[in-house]
Amino acid sequence: MKKQIGVLAVQGDFQEHMDALRRLKIDCIEIRKSSDLMGSGINGIILPGGESTAMGKLLHELEIFDELKRMIIEGLPVFGTCAGMILLAKTCVNDDRTYLGTMDIEVRRNGYGRQLGSFSEKGLVKEIGEVPMVFIRAPYIEKTSENVEILATSHGNIVAARQGNMLVTSFHPELTMDLKIHEFFVDVLCNA
Ligand code: GLN
Repeated sequence: MKKQIGVLAVQGDFQEHMDALRRLKIDCIEIRKSSDLMGSGINGIILPGGESTAMGKLLHELEIFDELKRMIIEGLPVFGTCAGMILLAKTCVNDDRTYLGTMDIEVRRNGYGRQLGSFSEKGLVKEIGEVPMVFIRAPYIEKTSENVEILATSHGNIVAARQGNMLVTSFHPELTMDLKIHEFFVDVLCNA
């Protein structure tokens, strides 16, 4: 059956994720309000990079939050990049706010500070291979529980991880031409 992937489109770089999915010839829809989610039958969802505080607030205002959280807990595959990772984290060491809180990771917002705020490099992601990694005021993962698989590190910090139906990266594959991580999400997580 043909898969359809939703992309949360309330704030941030959702357009770049839509473009990446289209390049993979994957059917995708923007999720902007609760009715886009309910009864949508999507096979997975991407939470883009942007500003986690703004996105978290909009998820509530647009009444998407509860349904999205329920769907993720029930197994909907989800891929969070950067701010999307913060939305999924159970705790954030330097911010009291938590959002969906479905993934057993502890993150540090803007982990690289102002000096190294944005940079890119190549790095190895377990199960996927070498990919370009673009970091923009990125969070990283400080701690995980045992059921979280660490997929990549950079500067000694965890920057990609998976826990069952949830995949997160600190960096932005959607801002590069490399489609391997999107492909992994769609082929592996959304097929499980
Ligand atoms: N610094 C942003 C936040 O804390 C994340 C940055 C990004 O998504 N590029 O939400």
